[in-house]
Amino acid sequence: MPQSPNTMNGMITDALVMRQFGDRLHLERVRVNGPGENEVLVEMVATGICHTDLICISGRLPFPTPTILGHEGAAIIRAVGKNFTSSCSPGDQVLLTFDSCGYCTSCESNHAAYCHSFNIRNAPSNVGSDGETHLYTATSDSSPIWGKFFGQSSFARHAVVSPRSIVNLTVNCGLILAREELQQLAPLGCGVQTGYGAVVNSLHVTSGSSLAVFGAGTVGLSAVLAARKAHVATIIVVDMIEERLEIAKELGATHVLLGSRTDLVQEIKAITVTTQGVQFAIDATGVVLVIETMMQSLGTMGKAVSIGMPPPKAELKIDINVCISRGQSYLGCVEGDSVPDKLIPHLVMECLAGQFPLDKMVTSYKAADCNQAIADMRSGQAVKPILLW
Ligand SMILES: [Zn+2]
Ligand SMILES: [Zn+2]
Repeated sequence: MPQSPNTMNGMITDALVMRQFGDRLHLERVRVNGPGENEVLVEMVATGICHTDLICISGRLPFPTPTILGHEGAAIIRAVGKNFTSSCSPGDQVLLTFDSCGYCTSCESNHAAYCHSFNIRNAPSNVGSDGETHLYTATSDSSPIWGKFFGQSSFARHAVVSPRSIVNLTVNCGLILAREELQQLAPLGCGVQTGYGAVVNSLHVTSGSSLAVFGAGTVGLSAVLAARKAHVATIIVVDMIEERLEIAKELGATHVLLGSRTDLVQEIKAITVTTQGVQFAIDATGVVLVIETMMQSLGTMGKAVSIGMPPPKAELKIDINVCISRGQSYLGCVEGDSVPDKLIPHLVMECLAGQFPLDKMVTSYKAADCNQAIADMRSGQAVKPILLW
């Protein structure tokens, strides 16, 4: 059993540690120190695995090791730093999301996903808010381990998190959920709000319009659900995996197309003849060729958004004359440009009311089986694995 968490001297807990790129995650005993006065200690009930975690494991981003990843935590607060006792209490049920400063011009205008210090705050750190204490150390040799990925590093049974990474369901929704209900909600903190938010906050889709979604993982499928809710009339989903297209149909796609087709652009334009192509489009794949296909599928005044991350320094070819003469636009979007304290509680209520069938995407694994979960996600067998603590 874990030690008492109310101490800066630390407690021993379990974490999935990435020792080196490309390697398996290792379930290890680690010491977690905190919470400091600007931090909160939580006990995880579940953590979703997101594509960004896989990108980090593969070594595609410059990154320190050893590190604890994970940024879709569902948790219960166990101890609160003295600066946050008014907004959080031990026992509160929370979902964890990205971190932001709360005071830059982006944060002040409700666009925290574009926080000026987003990269620093969401990259791993190895010191606590006092700037000195190592957040996590190995119990074997006391060597430091990097944590606070996305303000949380939720691939751990206990984590010291940033207060702005916390969406407090007990306070915001007045809910007391069964443990199983809270576990299922873990993916709302990144993948779901990213796809859902891109549709409502970035594209501002309109009733009766058309939308093409490239990539039917959690992000793309959440975009489908948001589009259905907004009464988008034509929802076209493109993916390489037939089973995912079946799920997309169940969730509200009106047309599904296999990504291996060579006539994708013509096919999408044939479905959306009246607007000479699709009015809204989302790329959740990050594959440059797919993004170019998306741009070619756009109709008059079409609006496209990229949410899938391509490799660093990827460039896109756009026919500028087409873009100008047809009034088209191309946007980027992080984390659905959402205000987590507003969007996530809204999504929680939708899920509980049966309006947002997360169960069609989620597959549960024991935390100790994380490497199987990652393999199943990579092979396409699992859309959204969640690890249970
Ligand atoms: Zn900010
Ligand atoms: Zn993510």
